[in-house]
Amino acid sequence: MYDVLLKNGMLVLPDDVFAGDLALRGGRIAALGSGLDGPAAETVDVSGKLVLPGAIDPHVHMELPVGGTRSCDDFLTGTRAAAAGGVTTILDFTVGSRETTMVDDLSARLKAAAPSVIDYGFHAEMVGWTPARLDEMREVAERGVRSFKFFTAYAASGRRTENGPLFESMRVAAELGAVASVHAEDESLIQARLALMEDSEKARMTALGLSRPDLCEASAVHEVVWLADRAGVQVHIMHLSSALGLEEVREARRRGTDVTAETCPHYLLLTDEVYGRPDARFYSASPALRGDGDRRALWDALAAGDVDFLSTDHCPFTCAQKEWKGAFDRLPYGMGSVELMLPLAYSEGVLGGHLTLSGLAERTAAAAARRYGLWPRKGGLLPGADADVAVLDPAAEWTVSAGTLHSSCDFSPYEGRTIRGRIERTYSRGELVYSQGTFPARPGRGLFLAR
Ligand SMILES: [Zn+2]
Repeated sequence: MYDVLLKNGMLVLPDDVFAGDLALRGGRIAALGSGLDGPAAETVDVSGKLVLPGAIDPHVHMELPVGGTRSCDDFLTGTRAAAAGGVTTILDFTVGSRETTMVDDLSARLKAAAPSVIDYGFHAEMVGWTPARLDEMREVAERGVRSFKFFTAYAASGRRTENGPLFESMRVAAELGAVASVHAEDESLIQARLALMEDSEKARMTALGLSRPDLCEASAVHEVVWLADRAGVQVHIMHLSSALGLEEVREARRRGTDVTAETCPHYLLLTDEVYGRPDARFYSASPALRGDGDRRALWDALAAGDVDFLSTDHCPFTCAQKEWKGAFDRLPYGMGSVELMLPLAYSEGVLGGHLTLSGLAERTAAAAARRYGLWPRKGGLLPGADADVAVLDPAAEWTVSAGTLHSSCDFSPYEGRTIRGRIERTYSRGELVYSQGTFPARPGRGLFLAR
């Protein structure tokens, strides 16, 4: 007997889409095919609906401390919002500091994440590098962390890892079979730009893009992939934002470097035009939003697979937290969209002609699962895999409004945008975690994914 039988849906598989049924049992996908007969404890008619692998958002920041405040979703509100958007797995980050070990950081974050309603994992953040960090990397790997986060920018807060330490860390990551994930922006180019900037210029939001242009991203990507290649490590470029940065990823791939890249909905759907608007401060993010040409280049790259998968870099701050304090660099950077990744990727990506349905599943689930050691448990509708499933109604048309989203944030960068396609129900390991505006599952049921 099945636990759940989803009947008559459009099942989206890696290389095929077919009308059929999906059976879940014991938290796993038991069978898929046409005309599956029960019995089942619950049968749900999903005619006309898309049945997708639960999405993986491999880059989110719940309750992240930044400059005296913290991102406004905790692990309960953030994972509920994720579930409402068809996301069944998130990868968040440990919060490093000069004073703590990476093992301490992981323990603290595991505690914070306990109320999650969906499954989660962590990238271990490298902050305040010392040689002792290399053993700490081995220790957190023992505990199931198989990806590390490095910054090439943000020297002031100790987050920047210089090339020497970065290379040595990459060698250890390679030994561990782990991924080196990098926030790639060239600190020195940014600092020089800032030094040349008048205070009057810094009082405008346009200064954000001017202080860290595409050149900064491309220069850092160039250097990082070169080092990664020599270290023999799998390298991943986070939140790729520019055509120039993309060219460096493509070039490295042509040379045979094991590099992947992600981009976020805001780099595909928004441009630096917003920095001229009165509400510009709400769009503070790093990397900065770019021009229309960058946006188009990223869509093409996502379609072609040169950008491997989507993430949201979900890091929401309320309007009050983004109160203007006289200069662009006094704002917390980040925006939230974990609930919108899959609906936007369907509405703008599939209906916009950039992605096939299989491509949608690949870019929102499978590719991230493979890169981060979650495949085949997560990321695809495969017999034996975790029953992580998103049911999307492609006929539903709705308008984004922060007030009706499930994040704690009172601002959405997509406010007023019409989306075609809405998540109707989401299953995590066979359990209904979201159903038409409700969250039937118990807080804390989400599992830490040791990789
Ligand atoms: Zn981030």
